[in-house]
Amino acid sequence: MKPVKWLLDLIYPPKCVLCGRLLQKDEEHACPRCLLELPILTVLLDGGDFYSACAAPFRYEGKLRESILRYKFGGKRHYAQFYAEYLAASIQAQLGGKFDLITWVPISRRRHRERGYDQARTLAELTAKRLGCPCVQTLKKTKHNRRQSGIDSDEARRANVKGVYRAVKPERFAGKRLLLIDDIITTGSTISECAFTLRRAGASGVAAAVTAAARAPKTTVSR
Ligand SMILES: [Zn+2]
Repeated sequence: MKPVKWLLDLIYPPKCVLCGRLLQKDEEHACPRCLLELPILTVLLDGGDFYSACAAPFRYEGKLRESILRYKFGGKRHYAQFYAEYLAASIQAQLGGKFDLITWVPISRRRHRERGYDQARTLAELTAKRLGCPCVQTLKKTKHNRRQSGIDSDEARRANVKGVYRAVKPERFAGKRLLLIDDIITTGSTISECAFTLRRAGASGVAAAVTAAARAPKTTVSR
């Protein structure tokens, strides 16, 4: 064990990312009990009008859901290591060879200031590293909108994200197939909007991958 890690483990003993229990020496990220209960998702989700499909290792429920909420709103940035391991495996199995570049769904500057990190970017970078794939920023969120999680109807969710993203340096991804990473998918309207923006800016195709799927995304988006 590296001295720095040894010291950090002493000051901040590693806890299970799912239940918060202190981990034993040979355990990493999660305790054996939680690993057995993981809400694993094995199907590849259908895409929307602007993206081909969405890979997700987990269903967004129970302790996994609470864990993601702590990752997003509770400052638990290091949880990303755990999610990236599963995300990379799911991408490899379901979308391997189908993309050239990895990118992410960005948050607004204001949200970034509040949170201190961009949760999807952190996931994308760690996952890309595991897959040995380049990871680049392709989008910027130019408007600070309401959180999607507080909006119920599909139509209102689509309206809430419409036109809030802008392509960044499209020459870097023109003609390429992108893999867009986010933390969760609910109706797919955020991913669809990002994919639309990327396709319009020249991407030849967009597939998506998220840590967890809250429900199967609807595929009827007209533009
Ligand atoms: Zn646990």
